[in-house]
Amino acid sequence: MSSALVVRAPLAWLEAGSLVPDVVVVVERGLVAYAGPAAEAPPSADAEEVDVDGFLMPAVADRHVHVGLADPATVVLRGVTAVRDCGWPADVIFPLADASELPSFTGPLIRAVGPILTAPGGYPGRERWAPPGTSLEVHDPGEAARAVQMLAGRGAVAIKVSLNADAGPTPSDADLEAICSAAAESRLPVVAHVEGAGQTERALGAGVREIAHTPWTESLSDSAIQALAKRTRIVSTLDIQSFGGDTPEVRTAVDNLRRFHEAGGIVLYGTDLGNGPIPPGVDVREVLLLREAGLPTEAILQSMSRGPLQRNAPGDLLALGRNPFEELDAFDDVRLVVRGGRVVG
Ligand SMILES: [Zn+2]
Repeated sequence: MSSALVVRAPLAWLEAGSLVPDVVVVVERGLVAYAGPAAEAPPSADAEEVDVDGFLMPAVADRHVHVGLADPATVVLRGVTAVRDCGWPADVIFPLADASELPSFTGPLIRAVGPILTAPGGYPGRERWAPPGTSLEVHDPGEAARAVQMLAGRGAVAIKVSLNADAGPTPSDADLEAICSAAAESRLPVVAHVEGAGQTERALGAGVREIAHTPWTESLSDSAIQALAKRTRIVSTLDIQSFGGDTPEVRTAVDNLRRFHEAGGIVLYGTDLGNGPIPPGVDVREVLLLREAGLPTEAILQSMSRGPLQRNAPGDLLALGRNPFEELDAFDDVRLVVRGGRVVG
């Protein structure tokens, strides 16, 4: 096997503000060694060379999946090389996340939050999609803090908390504060499932850093939008509100996200793969809904990218048959997927 991979393309988006014609990306030992004009590329002996007639960009990260309900091999074949699992039993998902780091793994790199912290009897404990262990009930602030420490020790990349008032009880304010302060001590962000009147404000008040779905159950107040934009990121998951149709829920979510983006908030691409008929890999409907929410193409690409294509970034690449700055549905036309310097699709 070659020690390096060299990919050439007529056009690439490397990062914000960097659209480069006649480009070369060199990946060595899994990391980008060079990304830029072909004329300035370093010589590379003993490299596997791939010429792609299309548009090159960083591969996609999906920040909200339930990979146990999906086919990891298809996810990576269709352009998504990294996912964050947002709720699954610890004894299944953390070993799978470890396994996903090996070159032999057929699928994306998996990062995980583990089980979702919830109130006794709270969401998603009784959901049909959620196997036992998908949620972890906390009864008091001390137990909440210990649950966070346990998950941090198992390798969680964030702490997920359920604030779904429409489906059952939610953690008390004291439990929520204990979760957020224990997570801060472990240097982990708290990501909240927010559903039902007033729950976004509760998440904000407790110091939640990320919202797992664009809120869809109510039109948020301007002050809530401003506070969200300053203090949190939102994972989009717009398509689960309609799966390609038109519903009041998707209208509300798109409008909330449009106002959040206008207020300067950071949008992260995420699909909630595993929840209903979301296609594995890049979900073009999600991309088109981000456009409806007012994101320019470059902001959409930023929300989707695993990272900028620069030296020492992950060697994860995606090539499309067309230019998404001209045709946003180009994400339907995946021509090449590279994960960690290996051609995987
Ligand atoms: Zn989910």
